[in-house]
Amino acid sequence: MLGALFAVFLLAVPAGAREQGWDWRQSQTPHFIINHQTAWLPAGFSMGAERVHSRLRMDLGMFSPWMSKEKINLYIYSDHETFLAGEFAPPKWSNGLAIYDRKAVAMPTMKDPRKMLSVMAHETTHLLFDSYWKEARREPPSWINEGLAMLEEAESPERPETSIWYQQMTLVDPKKFPDLETFFAVTPTKDLHNDQAAVGEWYIQAYSVVHYLLRKHSRLQFKSLCAALRDGKPVADALWLTYRYKKVSDLDKKWRAWLADPSHKRRVAALAGDARKGMDEGAVGKSSGLKSSSFKSFSTSFTRPKAGTPAE
Ligand SMILES: [Zn+2]
Repeated sequence: MLGALFAVFLLAVPAGAREQGWDWRQSQTPHFIINHQTAWLPAGFSMGAERVHSRLRMDLGMFSPWMSKEKINLYIYSDHETFLAGEFAPPKWSNGLAIYDRKAVAMPTMKDPRKMLSVMAHETTHLLFDSYWKEARREPPSWINEGLAMLEEAESPERPETSIWYQQMTLVDPKKFPDLETFFAVTPTKDLHNDQAAVGEWYIQAYSVVHYLLRKHSRLQFKSLCAALRDGKPVADALWLTYRYKKVSDLDKKWRAWLADPSHKRRVAALAGDARKGMDEGAVGKSSGLKSSSFKSFSTSFTRPKAGTPAE
């Protein structure tokens, strides 16, 4: 009898949780299966995850229509140590992973619930966006994949200044950003090596360019740009076909003019003190350069050695 009961119980536990041990609990929401090690999820996390999902559907639904029907698996470890020691074996600076073949995101419990939701939004964006490229057996360019994931960290499209990346964008001297022709050709892991300041600036530029392409134009244009890139078209051709920029340098000029708009700094200045997280941590504009912790934790899919292994 005990044996039979045990077998029934086993069936009720999802494969992922079984592999991870008996200390996992599960909560279901309309769009997530949330596996968590702690007895309770942080207050408001389930609701917050659903809010993130409906927000992501606006931008990512066109890339991954499956997101409205299929649930995403979340693995929430009790802390950073157990996350690092867990089955997905993330690098030690990582604070979140997208695991494509399991339609899953893994991450640790964090003290700040807002930070948890922004990491979850970042990794879920990678999961959804990458599935679009994988359909065609392609990998997205690093700049667009990272830029989009950073863009989705903000509370809402109307409040982009709530993201650390927007805040840091207002601190960088625009002259530090290489011209877009050069920028599009860079893969940080290959081309920037251990130059942390350059990697930090690359991330902020990726955020900024994707922000401009998606939020200052139509979603359909952005989707068409990705479709053209996925077909293998060079960036210059893809930009002409979808945005009607004759040359990459035309986009460069328009993007820099937008960047120079004083309203960005005003938006950040209007935030309450504790919402201005990027301003104390970042230090991009200071001579000491960018603190690696702000971006390293998100350096992501381009570190993925092969399909099926986790990306951060
Ligand atoms: Zn990332």
